[in-house]
Amino acid sequence: MEHRDLSEADPEVYKALKNEVERQESESLEMIASENFVPRQILQAQGSVLTNKYAEGYPGERYYAGCEYHDKVENLARKRACEIFDADHANVQPHSGSQANFAAYFSQLDAGDKILGPVLSHGGHLTHGHGINFSGDLFDFATYGINKETERFEKEDILQAAKEHEPDMIVCGYSAYPREIDFEMFREVADEVDALLMCDIAHISGLVAAGEHPNPFPQCDIVTTTTHKSIRGARGGMILCKDEYAEDVDSAVFPYSQGGPLMHQIAGKAVCFKEAMRPEFEDYAKQIKKNTKALAEGLRKHDLELVSGGTDNHLVLVDLREEDVTGKEAESALEEANIVVNKNAVPYDPEPPMVTSGIRIGTPALTTRGMEEEELEEIGEMIGKVVKNPRDSGVRTKVREKVSELLENFELYEESGVEF
Ligand SMILES: *Cc1c(COP(=O)(O)O)cnc(C)c1O
Repeated sequence: MEHRDLSEADPEVYKALKNEVERQESESLEMIASENFVPRQILQAQGSVLTNKYAEGYPGERYYAGCEYHDKVENLARKRACEIFDADHANVQPHSGSQANFAAYFSQLDAGDKILGPVLSHGGHLTHGHGINFSGDLFDFATYGINKETERFEKEDILQAAKEHEPDMIVCGYSAYPREIDFEMFREVADEVDALLMCDIAHISGLVAAGEHPNPFPQCDIVTTTTHKSIRGARGGMILCKDEYAEDVDSAVFPYSQGGPLMHQIAGKAVCFKEAMRPEFEDYAKQIKKNTKALAEGLRKHDLELVSGGTDNHLVLVDLREEDVTGKEAESALEEANIVVNKNAVPYDPEPPMVTSGIRIGTPALTTRGMEEEELEEIGEMIGKVVKNPRDSGVRTKVREKVSELLENFELYEESGVEF
């Protein structure tokens, strides 16, 4: 076997990677609420020789020999995850959040069973029962929605839906909900109809890890998450659960829905959890919340409506129904100004999903870069200006210049030894 430098072995891929690190470093403000930047130590773990080995099974009971160090790494990841989230058991093998949800459902349910989950356009995820996803195809999903008055999830609505549909499982946890989740309320509802309670904390797991959002245990039975959003780790998924579900969860991941685990990714998860236990991570999560409030403040200066009137977490959802612009137009106007957000349905949105009347804006990535309230409030104002003048290219040019200045002052990978 011939070892060569990537730049020589595959100049095309090398160039794309170099361009991508440059794009991340200096092209635009990254405000997709589900994205983040990982530190060098996580990239190192992910780019390791753990990619070489089959480790089907679990630590101490693998189907292949030679897993001593794989066991060590996976045990570290499991132990740290349990400690962070106060869980009895962790399965760190799901390849992604969607895979984690697949296995979590099948650990307790059979195809055709009834699940009550959030409406997709009210903050739910495709894996919460959408028809184009396995979840909607294989399970009998019913939905609950956001309260029209408060624009929050309220007990009366969820209880009513639960009583009407008598689900086997209730799912909470969202992709676009700017408020805290009330796990006690969900537990009460689940108990009333004798359902299991699952929470998908894909977006908020960093806040939960730092104690900046309530922990889903002990109220929830099974908890799923991604490991690459606010918790800032290797791309992947994880399932946490109480003891009584541990065996079912493990067998629903392997052998039921996956084969060999991505051990290099699991090493990245282990490092991510170690990072998340540091006091610095707590500061980071606190800063995310402060930054999102400052962002909301900046948006309000331009009289933009926020779903539920504000935010308790890492994102805001701007309601554009009263504005002269759709979510789709706002997204592309902002993209031209080098501010990257995504169009997002707002509750009771009159526009179709590819258009929408909202934009979702998150702060985890910019907080990772070191930006604070002053910058986020200014960015909120910049977004406000672009959204209020969606057809004025002069505004976009000015904002773009300001974005470049900001990025120069908040170095990301340049001095860290990360080549790509
Ligand atoms: C992102 C997300 C997922 C899916 O994660 P993938 O890793 O993209 O499969 C699942 N649930 C929620 C709530 C999410 O936000």
